Amino acid sequence: MKLRGLHAHSYSLEHSVPRAPVRAVAILGVLVDRGGLSEAMERIHALLDPSMSTQVGTGQVITLNPEYLMRARRDATLRHIIADADVRVADGVGLIVAARLLYGANHSIARVTGNDLVAALAAEGVPLFLLGAASGVAEDAAAVLMRRHPQAQIVGMWAGDAGPGDDAETRRRINATDARVVLVAYGMPKQDHWIARNLPHLNASVAIGVGGAFDYLAGRVPRAPAWMRVHGLEWFYRLIRQPWRWRRILIVWQFAVLVVSIAARQWVQSFLSTRFTRFTGGR
Ligand code: UDP
Repeated sequence: MKLRGLHAHSYSLEHSVPRAPVRAVAILGVLVDRGGLSEAMERIHALLDPSMSTQVGTGQVITLNPEYLMRARRDATLRHIIADADVRVADGVGLIVAARLLYGANHSIARVTGNDLVAALAAEGVPLFLLGAASGVAEDAAAVLMRRHPQAQIVGMWAGDAGPGDDAETRRRINATDARVVLVAYGMPKQDHWIARNLPHLNASVAIGVGGAFDYLAGRVPRAPAWMRVHGLEWFYRLIRQPWRWRRILIVWQFAVLVVSIAARQWVQSFLSTRFTRFTGGR
C-alpha cells in the first residue's frame, strides 16, 4: 500500500492492486509516464474507484513540462511531490523530444495535456470542481465545457488563492460539493503545492494541476493554430502572444541544452565502449 507523504523513492512502478504497471522513463531524474490519454484515464478511474481508494495513493495528477523538470532540480519539495504523484503525464513537446533523444524510439512517450484530461473527464460526466484562475474565468470555462459535453457535471468553482491562508475556506467550499475531481488552475508549481497540501483533507479523491486550461477554454488565451501545435511550436506562439513569458521560455531552452548534452555524452560513451570492446576483442 502506498501512503501519503513526501518520499522521493516511495513511488513504485507496480502498485499493490492488480493493474497494469506504470510505464515511465526518467528525464533529468524525474519519472514521466509514457502512456497516452487512455492509460492516464485508466489510472484516474482506479483512483476514483471507492473500492480501491485506500490502496492507490495520493490521487495527485501532474501535467509535467520542461519547466517542472528544471524547477525540480532546485526545489526538493516539488521533486518529492512529483515523485509521490500517482499520474505524471507529459504535457509539453519538450519532454517527448527529450525521451526520444535519451532513450530512442522504443521508449517514446505520448503527450497528454491538461486540456485533454479536462475534456475526457467532462465527457464522462465525472463531477468536477474548478479551482483557480482569475475571477470569472472558471465560470466561462464551465459554460464552454457544458456546451461541448452535455453530460459534463461542474459541481462548483472558486477562484480562491493559491497560498495557505485560503486553504481552509477553499476546502470547505470543495467539501460542500460532491466533487470527485478537483481541477486546480494556479499555474506550476503553486497548483502542485496546493494539491499536496490540501488533497488529504478533501472528499474528492483526485486533483489535477491544469495550468492555463481554464484560460484556454474561456478563450482568454488563444491556443496556437493546429499546425504549430503539431510541430511543437506552441512555445513560439506563446512568446509572440505573451512576450512577458520570455523568462519561462528561456528555461525551456536551458532544458533543451541540458538534455542534448546528456544525450551527446551517452552517445560518445557508447561509441567509445563499442570501439574499445572491438579493440580488446571483447576481453
Ligand atoms: N493563477 C492563479 N493564481 C496564481 C497564479 C496563477 O489563479 O497565484 C492562474 C492564472 O490566472 C491562470 C493559471 O493559473 O489561469 C495558469 O497560469 P499560467 O498560464 O502561468 O500556468 P502554466 O500553465 O504556464 O503553468
